[in-house]
Order: sequence, then structure tokens, then C-alpha cells
Amino acid sequence: MCGIFGAIGQKDSARLTYLGLYALQHRGEESAGIIIYDKKKAHYLKGMGLVSDVFSEKTVSSLQGKTAIGHVRYSTTGSSHAKNIQPFMVRHKKGYIAIAHNGNLTNTKKLHTELEEKGSIFQSTMDSEIIAHLIARVSGKDYKDSIISALSELQGAYSLVLMVDNILVAARDPRGFRPLSLGKVGDCYVLASETCAFDLIHADYIRDIEPGEILFIDQSGRLESVKPFPEKNHAFCIFEYIYFSRPDSNIFSNNVYLARKRLGQQLAREYNPDCDLVMPIPDSGSYAALGYAQESKKPYEAGMIRNHYIGRTFIQPTQFARDFRVRVKLNPVRDVLKGKKVVVVEDSIVRGTTCRARVKALRDAGAKEVHMGVSCPPIISPCFYGIDFPTRKELIASNKTIKQIKDFIGLDSLYYLSLEGMLKSMPLPKNEFCTACFTCKYPEKPSKGFSKNILEC
Ligand code: 5GP
Ligand code: MG
Repeated sequence: MCGIFGAIGQKDSARLTYLGLYALQHRGEESAGIIIYDKKKAHYLKGMGLVSDVFSEKTVSSLQGKTAIGHVRYSTTGSSHAKNIQPFMVRHKKGYIAIAHNGNLTNTKKLHTELEEKGSIFQSTMDSEIIAHLIARVSGKDYKDSIISALSELQGAYSLVLMVDNILVAARDPRGFRPLSLGKVGDCYVLASETCAFDLIHADYIRDIEPGEILFIDQSGRLESVKPFPEKNHAFCIFEYIYFSRPDSNIFSNNVYLARKRLGQQLAREYNPDCDLVMPIPDSGSYAALGYAQESKKPYEAGMIRNHYIGRTFIQPTQFARDFRVRVKLNPVRDVLKGKKVVVVEDSIVRGTTCRARVKALRDAGAKEVHMGVSCPPIISPCFYGIDFPTRKELIASNKTIKQIKDFIGLDSLYYLSLEGMLKSMPLPKNEFCTACFTCKYPEKPSKGFSKNILEC
């Protein structure tokens, strides 16, 4: 997964982008990059690590130019490499093209092979490089036609922010899997994966980029919107509401915090074991737990406290370091838990391994009974559209029954929110969403050779 940002119209667009990326940090912690265009040249600042590791006030203020785009990248296994840092940029006879991409294409293999057969040489393994080649390949057309023609070949999920020389371009795939919004601060237009990035820079939210829309913005603030592709049923990622987006953001035109709270309220209507208190696994479970406590009228307690000062240095491959990391991040409060029957609210279970460690910590701290309510259904299928859900083998709910999961995690009882309950809690009609990770019903089938993960449901 990734976070993308763009700004056009102000000399310090790079600074706005830097701040925007700060707000989008949760969408990707592996690497960060900003590209600006000034005096007929593009300038690049990028590196591995967090936004605060890669940029400083000083380096960002050295980037002056009216058009800027930026990207934060999520760590996915096997692809953690400096050459995969985005935005991706190429220079060709028509000028510069820079791309920041969020999502996953599903016909990458096919496009890659076709382009290589036609002579393209690839520097990285990224989807965004394919998009750059597709745009550069179309000769004799103006850049707008080249972009439309390139995007018409893509399948799967893409929210894009592009810089074509000094022009800023936003695009969203026709199903709209990933969010992307347009805002404005002063004379400057801004684009961001989530609206929390607008709040930080005092930008006003204008609207979402629509599914299937391509929006061109020039430096004088002129907007041109086209929708050149056939319409498709929408497939907004429901997991953005459950876990991924920040609760202070509005995505797909609706607030995340309130959606999460409603998931918790619905969970309380479906699952109500006898207990003394309700607690979240912070931070991701906190909003559903709040909804759960309000609906069930049970006391809400912070039974675990989060340490916010965990650097990436703790991510070590040894078992000792991993155990240490789990313990340093969340610490149970013994005096709250001792002798108590506890309902823990968790936003989701993926592999089950962190949940298991948390539940053991609660018991060690004296909890008498530990029950768990999960604010989404069992995750049974991998995601092909950008969420880093592992292979079916690693997804615990794909391999074990609920009783087996309960025993593995060490719970007194375990309940997953029903599919209907989840959909009912959403701010949009159910047919607007992709729920493939819960249902195995994929709105866009990956092309052949996409992944070894594809197993029959
Ligand atoms: P598990 O117990 O399955 O090992 O971990 C579940 C926890 O991982 C949940 O608390 C949830 O907030 C978090 N989580 C859910 N989806 C993702 C994801 O895509 N990436 C990461 N890093 N964590 C996730
Ligand atoms: Mg969590």
C-alpha cells in the first residue's frame, strides 16, 4: 500500500508535499520521495525510511518549483529496495514524466512482456514503471492523448498522481479501488490519498477524483477533466474503512472514524459475552471498541498502553528482537485487568500471531477471561489490489476454523462481525465496495501469471 500527494501553483509546492506525506505516513513507512519541476528540469529527493528520515526542512526548502508530487511506500516482502522508491521518473523526447502510484495492477506480467518485446528496458519491478513506458511509447500524440491511451491498457487498481513537465495529473481506475481527493489552499491545488493531508496544510477539500476520471491541472490553475473509459461497477476497498486509512480522514466522501465506530456498535449487537470491561488493542482497534462500549453499555478501559517511540531499528530478524518489539509496543495495565472478564475489540485478524501475543500478555497481567470481537469477517483471500495481505497459506482464517483460531490465539470466545453487519455499517451502499478478502469474489480477475497466490475458493 502507498500514500500519494501532489501540489501545483505555489513556489513551495515541495514543502506542501513534504507536509502532506507526513500526514500520509501510515500508508507507507518503507521509503519516501518528492519530485518537483522547475526551469525545464525535474529535481528529486528520495530515500529509504520515514518521511522524517528522508527529508529535512533544509533539503525540502532547496526544492523550489510550482509543480510537485510525492509518495510514501509500504513495506512489502521481497521488494524493499532503493530502486523501487517512488515517485518513478523517466526523461524522454517529450520531456519528464513522474509517477506516484497507489494500488496494484492485475495485468502487469502481460504488459511487461509486451513492452519488453517491443524493446523497453526496465529498471525496476514496479507497476509505475510500466505506466511510464506506456505513456512514453505513444508517439505523435499530445501528452493528454498519451496518458489516456496508456491508462486504457491498465487493469486493476490505480490511484495516480503524475507530473508531466509542469502539469499535474490525477487519475483513478474506473472501479475506484483506492481513494484520491482534490483540495485547494490559496491558489494551489493539491491531491492526496486521504483528506487528513489537507487538514495539516489548511487546504479545503473540494471533491474526490471520480472513478475513471483523469484530471489535468496546469500552473495557472486551469482544470480539465475527462472520463474516457467505459463505466464499471465501483469496487471501493472496504478495508480502507476497517483498518488502513486514518480515522480523521474522509475517504470515498465519508468519514473513517464514524464508520469504524459503527462497526463496533454493530459488533455489540451481534456479540455480547458477559464481561466487566471492554478494551481495544490500540490504536487500530480503538474506534470500534468505543462503538462497542457505547452500544453494549459496558465500561471502556484502556487495558493496554501504547509506546509511540518505537524506531524501525527494532525490526530485527531474530526471534528475541521480534518478541521484544511486540512487548515494547503495547504494555498491559495490571491494575485494570487483574481478575477481570475482558472483551477485547480488534479491527482485524490477518495471521493471528500478534493477537496471540497480546492475549497472552493480558492473561499474564491477570485477566480472568479474555473474549475477542473482531470488527470485520474472517479474511480468507489475498488482496490483488494493493493491501499487503499474504498468501492464503499465511491467512489464518483461510486454514483454520473459528474454533481452531480461538484456541490458537488462546481466547475464551471469539466472534467475527458478520458480512451483512459490516456492510450495513458502511456509509455507502454495499454494491459500491470490493469485499474480495472476505468473500473471494474478485471484481477484477488478475491476468495469467499474476501471482502464485491465486487458489480456488
Ligand atoms: P495478526 O494478529 O493477524 O498477526 O495481526 C492483526 C493486526 O494487524 C490487527 O491489529 C490489525 O490492526 C493489523 N493489520 C491489519 N491489516 C494489516 C496490514 O495490511 N498491515 C499491517 N502491518 N498490519 C495490519
Ligand atoms: Mg491493530
